Order: sequence, then structure tokens, then C-alpha cells
Amino acid sequence: MTKLIVSEHGKVYEDARGSLTRGLEVVEFACGIPHLLKGEFSENVGTNVDSWSIRQPLGVVAGITPFNFPAMVPMWMFPIAIACGNTFILKPSEKDPSCAIRLAELLSDAGLPDGVFNVINGDKEAVDAILENKDIKAVSFVGSTPIAKYIYENSAKNEKRVQALGGAKNHLVVMPDCDLDGAVNGLMGAAYGSAGERCMAQSVAVAVGDIGDELVSRLSKKAEALKVGPGMDKTSEMGPLVTKQHLEKVTSYVDLGVKEGAKLVVDGRGLKLQGYENGFYIGGCLFDYVNKDMRIYKEEIFGPVLSVVRVKTFEEAAKLINDHEYGNGVSIYTRDGDAGRTFASKIQVGMVGINVPIPVPMAFHSFGGWKRSLFGDSGMHGMEGIKFYTKLKTVTSRWPSGVRSNAEFVMPTMK
Ligand code: NAD
Repeated sequence: MTKLIVSEHGKVYEDARGSLTRGLEVVEFACGIPHLLKGEFSENVGTNVDSWSIRQPLGVVAGITPFNFPAMVPMWMFPIAIACGNTFILKPSEKDPSCAIRLAELLSDAGLPDGVFNVINGDKEAVDAILENKDIKAVSFVGSTPIAKYIYENSAKNEKRVQALGGAKNHLVVMPDCDLDGAVNGLMGAAYGSAGERCMAQSVAVAVGDIGDELVSRLSKKAEALKVGPGMDKTSEMGPLVTKQHLEKVTSYVDLGVKEGAKLVVDGRGLKLQGYENGFYIGGCLFDYVNKDMRIYKEEIFGPVLSVVRVKTFEEAAKLINDHEYGNGVSIYTRDGDAGRTFASKIQVGMVGINVPIPVPMAFHSFGGWKRSLFGDSGMHGMEGIKFYTKLKTVTSRWPSGVRSNAEFVMPTMK
């Protein structure tokens, strides 16, 4: 499975393996489903009247997923959907469709009955068929914001439950008092890991106070030294982009940044690797003096392009982030507990890291952004996932008093 991810997506082997592990953690979480679905019970809400709530499956549910995590993102969805008692239809990205088929084969080998996990390959046409199908009760989507909005609106129009996770522009705030080596290393992985093709990639470094020069100097040395190569090469730190079109898009954003007046400190454009001259490679790019009005700041590039924005104060950094249209992930590096606590409390972003890059929640918490990074009410996995894939039923009951007709002498079991 890891090799399949590397061969179709292009990310490096250990990164692909890590993404698979994060998916498997959701399977482990879903194995606790008897506990997670336990419901609530109140005895004697009236005289001899009991009341309880249970959660029941929705029926047929669907997941529509992006190219950048062909195994992990589907695994945010189907283990919980199926454990909750639903059947699942996966519509993976047309850019790397094979993982979905391999997942189906593995589930079948493991004994999952036919029809419980299904794969439909295709693009918009397949998506529209899902949205219009009356038998599909819920849609989970992960992808870019314009498509997330389309999925949200059209699922609602067709009376479906929907969670639609969209794009991102994630900031990492570097406070002057922080452990700068920690921040620089954090930024390198968060900006250039997986060639920036992560919704939690941190593509904006916000340098606060007088830290900017030192930050850019350290980042530029490391960005220039990035080892770019094929995903199966163990020495590669960054692989190619997913398609030629995507390479062209990322390159055009770097061109745009130069035109907009940002300072291109490290230029990864035009990288040609010997033996892979036709590969979709670009080196790490680093911009300094980016400002909030530039398109390279406002828009998601989804490539290995890190922008440094310089601000004077913590308040200015927080305002910058809170004013941004996206609110997926964010981090702050600081030694000041007060700044860290205020940041976590006030920042308008769904997933927050303090001295931690890429704050992706574990399977037993829930994943989800704010603002235009998520349409709908619930995030993925954790208790949000359990609620999303079940509907609530509350029973109020009274029984005529009754006694058991036969004595039982064996240990009661659930049979
Ligand atoms: P995308 O929006 O192009 O595609 C996602 C899915 O939507 C695919 O299955 C695709 O076939 C389908 N699709 C594409 N165009 C469509 C259309 N016009 N009508 C209906 N369906 C359509 O996204 P992508 O390029 O595959 O993935 C990258 C994007 O996903 C980035 O914006 C990234 O931030 C986002 N993403 C978000 C999260 C998150 O958790 N918020 C996680 C991973 C990726």
C-alpha cells in the first residue's frame, strides 16, 4: 500500500508510511465502537418510566476524497462509518485511484461482506451521481474549498447530511523568545514535507518583532539544501508534485510572487533531476517580505512554497491569521506561556499547535478547520465522526410489571 501511494502520489516512502499509520489509528479507534455507541439511560424519568438514547446507522453513506492522502483521508471516514453500521461508497481522486481499490481488496480478504465497502472511480460525473442519489444519506468530502462548497450546497439540496472539508493557508507564528532551531526545523517539515501538498502544510511563517532576519537566514540555508528526488529513494526529503498541471500551477504562483514584489530568497523553479528530466519536480521556494494583500499570501498554493510575513507584535500576528479566509491549522512557537495560552484561546482556527508544527489531531480527537476550511457541522473521526455517521433515537418507555417465566442457570451472555 505504501509503495502504491508513492508511485501514484509521489511523496517520499516514510511520509507515505506515516500517513498509512495515521489511517490505521482510526481503525483502532473504531474497534472501540461498542463503547463509543453506548448511548445514555435515565431511570424513572416519571413513575416507572425510563428513557434512553441510542445512535443508529444512517444507511448508505459516501466519501469523496482528494489526491493528497489517497489512503489516510478515506481511512478518516470508512472505518467509523462501517463500525457504526453503515455501508460506504468511496469516490477517490481520479489522480491516484489505485489505493481505494487496494483498500477494497484488503477489506474483502479480511472478510468484510460484499457491498459494505464500495469504490466508484471517476471525476465530477461520479460525484454528481452520488449527490443526486436519494439512497445515499450522507456525504463526507475532503478537497479544495470551491468544490467543498459545491458539495455542501448540493448535498443539502438533496437532503443529505454533509461534512465538507476544504482548503487551507496555515500560519506558523515565530515569537522572538522561541527556540528558533525548533521553529526552523518545524517550519521545514511543515512547509516542504510532502512537497507542500498537505492541507495542514504551514506555508506562511509569521516573524514577530526582530526575529525576521535570523529566521530567513536559517530557513534559506536549509531550503537550499533540501534533498529532492524520487519517493522511493531513501535519501529524498521531498518528492515530485502530483501532475504536470499542478507543477505548472505551483510554478506560476512563484512567478506571481516575484511580480507582486515579494523577495524570492530561494528559487526552486526549473529543477531538473538527472534521469528524471520529465518528472514533476520543483525545489523548495522561500519568499520574504510577503504581505497580506498579495495573492501568494491569500491563496492556497499547495506546493513547496514558504512565505515569510514580518509583523511587529503578537496582536498583529493574531489579527493577520484571524482575518484570513481559511482557518484549518496554525502553530505558535514561544517560551511565553501567556502568549501560548492567549493564542490557543483567541485564534480563529480549528487546529492549534503550541511549539508543535502541523497539529493534526489523533484519531480519538476530531479533525476539522474553521471558516472556509470546513462547511458543515462536524469534523472527521473522534466523537464528531461517531455523531456524523449515526442518527439519534430517544426512547421513553413504561412496562406493565412482569416476571421471568423460567429460571436460568447459565452465565448470561450477549447471545
Ligand atoms: P479537489 O477539490 O480538486 O478534488 C477533491 C475531490 O473532488 C476529488 O475526488 C475530485 O474528483 C472531486 N472533484 C474535483 N472537481 C470537482 C467538480 N468540479 N465537481 C465535483 N467533484 C469534483 O482537491 P484535490 O486537488 O484532490 O486536493 C487538494 C485540496 O484538498 C487542497 O485544497 C487541500 O487543502 C484540500 N485538502 C483538505 C483537507 C482538509 O482536511 N481540510 C485534507 C486534504 C486535502
